[in-house]
Amino acid sequence: MIFILWIFFAILVGVYANSKGRSGFGFFLIATLLSPLIGFIIALVVPPINSKVEQKALEAGNMKKCPNCAEIVKVEAKLCKHCRSELA
Ligand SMILES: [Zn+2]
Repeated sequence: MIFILWIFFAILVGVYANSKGRSGFGFFLIATLLSPLIGFIIALVVPPINSKVEQKALEAGNMKKCPNCAEIVKVEAKLCKHCRSELA
């Protein structure tokens, strides 16, 4: 039973790391081998890779790139929050 929980939390750590642009599988392995708690703490303290997080958001289709300042804004945005220009 504890083994199932161990794997379950290790997967959660992987999913969390993945959302920060980190290697989900790598963190899953760390969490499985060491402990899900240690894996989670490591995933918590490593800074997110912003370019990867942005790329993921673009691929998911809920963000777009402002044509004027190249910053990432929401797809629904009519006004860029970075440069205040109007978006088509
Ligand atoms: Zn802009």
